[in-house]
Amino acid sequence: MKTGIATVSISGNLDDKIDAIAAAGFSGIEIFEQDFLTDIRSPAEVGRRVRDAGLEILLFQPFRDFEGLPGDLRARAFDRFERKFDLMQDLGTDLVLVCSSVHPQALGGIDRAAADFAELGERAARRGMRVGYEALAWGRHVNDHRDAWEVVRRADHPNVGLILDSFHTLSRKIDPETIRRIPGDKIFFVQLADAPLIEMDLLYWSRHFRNMPGEGDLDVTAFLRAVMATGYAGPVSLEIFNDQFRSGDTRLIARDGFRSVRALMDDVQRAEPDLRCDYPLLAPRARVEGVSFVEFASRDEEAEALAVSLGALGFARVGRHRNKAVSLWKQGDAHIVVNEERSGYAASAWNVRGTTVCDIGLRVDDAQAAAERARALGADSFEQAKAAGELDIPMVRGLAGSLIHFLDASLDPVWEVEFTLEPGDAKGVGLRRIDHIAQTMTYADMLSWSLFYTALLDMRALPMVDVIDPDGLVRSQAVTSPDGGLRLTLNGAEGHRTLAGKFLRDTFGAPVQHLAFATDDLIATADRLQARGFTALPLPGNYYDDLDARFALGAERIAALKARNILYDADATGGSFLQLFARDKAGQVFFEIVERRGGYDGFGAANAPFRIAAQKRLERPKGLPTR
Ligand code: MG
Repeated sequence: MKTGIATVSISGNLDDKIDAIAAAGFSGIEIFEQDFLTDIRSPAEVGRRVRDAGLEILLFQPFRDFEGLPGDLRARAFDRFERKFDLMQDLGTDLVLVCSSVHPQALGGIDRAAADFAELGERAARRGMRVGYEALAWGRHVNDHRDAWEVVRRADHPNVGLILDSFHTLSRKIDPETIRRIPGDKIFFVQLADAPLIEMDLLYWSRHFRNMPGEGDLDVTAFLRAVMATGYAGPVSLEIFNDQFRSGDTRLIARDGFRSVRALMDDVQRAEPDLRCDYPLLAPRARVEGVSFVEFASRDEEAEALAVSLGALGFARVGRHRNKAVSLWKQGDAHIVVNEERSGYAASAWNVRGTTVCDIGLRVDDAQAAAERARALGADSFEQAKAAGELDIPMVRGLAGSLIHFLDASLDPVWEVEFTLEPGDAKGVGLRRIDHIAQTMTYADMLSWSLFYTALLDMRALPMVDVIDPDGLVRSQAVTSPDGGLRLTLNGAEGHRTLAGKFLRDTFGAPVQHLAFATDDLIATADRLQARGFTALPLPGNYYDDLDARFALGAERIAALKARNILYDADATGGSFLQLFARDKAGQVFFEIVERRGGYDGFGAANAPFRIAAQKRLERPKGLPTR
């Protein structure tokens, strides 16, 4: 099976695109005419450049407004085609995409279009070319793949076939199961794109908001399952028009594309086991049972301050690494590792960012398989010398330069093997585990991060929510595993004035902005915290007056929350959520404690503006202008 991507999907000049597409692992490209026209080389030279990079030109596109034209216009369309055949011959490709006409003078009629394609098929055959017909969702007369197929069927020419594009089918809510009726050998090419569900003009939606399969809301898996079930054995190619991707990092977007199409093919193969497909199955998505540990890079006074913060949160130091300046803190099932090494990845992270999260350990069903799948989907390997007696824990590079370790039952002895354990104060304040990890990135990187998690691990993205910062909007998307073993909130910042944007600027893009721990009784935990010298983020009285108005909690309950600076939220099904934030940060990382009840699955987005405003009040000296 060949994989491809249209050159229009990524940024840069033609050379940047070719190199990035080859490096990502694709077998070929769809050459978008505009990308070729703006280049100074001849078609033959461009063709050679593509082949020298180890790629094939799978398709030349697009040819617009061909079928159904009257008189002279029809003759001119055929003349135009002969010139494109010359060009394709020089480029070294034999397949051209004809999208259904939007020409104002195009006449309708399946038989008229079929006659045009039958004649075009004759001309193509003489030149050794093939023609594929694609129904644009906004085509003037043909806007449904079933009609395009009827044109191709009636044209009845071996050099004329159908091109399917998941966006055009799924955006119009056409049942992809109808594809199963089409003979696979008459499908010449398949283009894939996902998109978020937005009510807007189809053309505008298509040209600006497409994204990689798995990044949007369309059922691209069902589409490709139907395609593959026909016996189709041609290329599977991405055709993504997206404003962010066009200005994004060429290599990263190409790599995301390959990750997306490879994971999708794997899903399709699992769902349709009889497929003709020569890709070996990947290891299945790892099931994440929980967060095994979070590791901070820290040093000197910062490490001392972090120790004070952890102690105030009820953590006890329970071990020291046998070979390294690394300590282990524990409360319930939450493990925090503090790495003060002077060399290695943690030291590099500290040098750039100060105290920061540099490593996340995930508890999975099969650690080795999880790392294998991650590497097969383009995650970078990471190796660091191990001292004698240290366990070989599978790991890959995560995002923003951090590491992800995978641990399973076979690695349970890690703490005993690598650490000298010491008796700690086991009482704690009732924190049971890590509830969620809040990661911050630029808005442009958000899709890339959510794809990373959902392609590698058994996790799904929840609908995006807006978080209101007094100085701008932050988009937040949660990605969670089915039983809540791993919950991440991905926060995309667009500017530097929001708290999230300022965090990115101040830390040079550190991966984790806050950690939330779970308790079963936040009121009791808050009281124990207070006894240990913990200071909560102070919230305004207005918040509690509003809370009283929004939820019928009763004066006593409101007073109890207010006295402890606890935030409250509830969902439509009666689930409730309590949140408490620490005033002090570790480096730029802050801490939260939450209590979930009755299946509440969110993260208190309605409370975020109050929390952010409170944090900003601490940063801005009173009376000074804010800009
Ligand atoms: Mg298309």
